[in-house]
Amino acid sequence: MGLNVVMMGPPGAGKGTQAERLARERDLLKISTGDILRDAFKEQTPAALVAKAKMDRGELIDDETMIAIVRDRLMRPDAGRGVVLDGFPRTVTQAEALDRILGERDNGPLVVIDVVVPEQELVRRLAGRRICSNCGTTAAPGDMEANCARCGGVMMQRADDNQDVVLERLKVYQQATRPVLEYYRNRPTFRVVNGSQAPDRVAHELNTLIDDAASVAVPLKTASEGSL
Ligand code: AMP
Repeated sequence: MGLNVVMMGPPGAGKGTQAERLARERDLLKISTGDILRDAFKEQTPAALVAKAKMDRGELIDDETMIAIVRDRLMRPDAGRGVVLDGFPRTVTQAEALDRILGERDNGPLVVIDVVVPEQELVRRLAGRRICSNCGTTAAPGDMEANCARCGGVMMQRADDNQDVVLERLKVYQQATRPVLEYYRNRPTFRVVNGSQAPDRVAHELNTLIDDAASVAVPLKTASEGSL
């Protein structure tokens, strides 16, 4: 039986780092919608350029596009063993679509993790964060190496990590994405982790929470038919 994990939390909470680690440790497919978009922008199609402008302003890309991207990934054979979703769903419409898609696949429970970090700490982290221009690996604030430890690519600041855009992204998170937490909060598989701790500690707690949540999970088909 597979396992599906949604990593929720504001920008800068460490979702991407933890999602990467979780996927590696549990042999799950990581689906990061931000990474997929940044990859697509390298093609420079007109549609990609419009989406990039939105992303650089900290705004969300439309639900229809994002749901189509995630549906496509979830239908691929390598998603069959289970997935870790990072950056999706970001709206209630996306969360409802995810329930429908996972219900059709019917391969294991959905565990939802909320990574909680105070806003002041998020702003500090995002301002100091850099990303590899080649493979997308993120470096922690304070790590000033010019080249990526993984592939040697040039490290740079993400266009949407500057102060003004960070504040906009946090506002968008409060308005559009916080309601998604309410959508999930009453499920038996919803868990909260303190993301202010050292990454190793977060990873350890995350694993315990996921095992615990998966053990009480009911099949998603049944869950989405009930009054959640
Ligand atoms: P992230 O790398 O997850 O911080 O995403 C960076 C940006 O990509 C966001 O600020 C949005 O502009 C866009 N984006 C990523 N995922 C989604 C999504 N699920 N829905 C809408 N926009 C998204």
